[in-house]
Amino acid sequence: MQTLARIKELLDLAGHGPKKALGQNFLLDHNLITKLVDSSGIQSGSRVLEIGPGTGALTELMLERGAKVTAIELDSGLARVLRHTLGERFPETFTLVEGDCLASKKRLNTEAMSIIGDETFALVANLPYHAATPAMMTLITAHPNCSGMYVTIQKEVVDRLLAPPSSKTYGAIAVAAQCLGTGERIANLPPECFYPRPSVASAMYGWTRDPSIPHDPEAWINRADLTQTLFQSRRKMLGGVVKKIAKSEVQFPDGITPDDRIDALEPERIWALCASIIRAS
Ligand code: SAM
Repeated sequence: MQTLARIKELLDLAGHGPKKALGQNFLLDHNLITKLVDSSGIQSGSRVLEIGPGTGALTELMLERGAKVTAIELDSGLARVLRHTLGERFPETFTLVEGDCLASKKRLNTEAMSIIGDETFALVANLPYHAATPAMMTLITAHPNCSGMYVTIQKEVVDRLLAPPSSKTYGAIAVAAQCLGTGERIANLPPECFYPRPSVASAMYGWTRDPSIPHDPEAWINRADLTQTLFQSRRKMLGGVVKKIAKSEVQFPDGITPDDRIDALEPERIWALCASIIRAS
């Protein structure tokens, strides 16, 4: 367990205070850290990806429970501290990759992903908020072996992930997350849970992939991209929008008409429409 004094001590060892540009807001509340790990259902031997271990409070708890953790940390000072603290204590189960969690907007750190390979894993992290949406979207669509995500992120992103049709925050990430799994808000977190206090509200979110859906990452990525394009005309009738995108006549799936608007449709309907548009393109 890391107290505020311990976090400050580890930051001193890293050679700096909390860096705002890297979204360094450290979780102080041990009960909440435990709640996140409990929600993830990880056990001894579980494979975990952690993005942004920071001073290692969450990492340490997962390692103590016997998980195999591959963590990606961009801050070189904190990476050095983690190698010394957790690396020496858990040489068999802790792997640290120093670098950016994103190789590009749609690709995760290649070194970390090749360490995990084809093994089933879960993302458990207090995410750097600027990387949260692209990292989660990539894990949902491009990494079928990611069986779940249990994360602390901006409350606004949790609202978007759980948004129902016809709501203002409904969009491509809600559609992908809801088509391929089940999400839940684990808790809303007041700013006092962090050091230093973040300027935006935070929440914990859990997502479990539906294991009955056959893996088809290429189709999922294409549908997610197309959903994003369709939502750029969210208030227009689909007939005109689709005509501009598809090269040939699109067969509208059952239950969708050209007079509908994208943001009123259920997630599965949107992906069925995307599949028809892709076939016609
Ligand atoms: N896990 C710690 C905790 O719960 O207290 C720290 C979480 S803090 C919100 C985010 C962490 O992500 C910081 O350690 C920061 O240095 C790291 N980070 C920021 N941007 C990153 C990136 N693009 N790739 C990997 N790590 C990043």
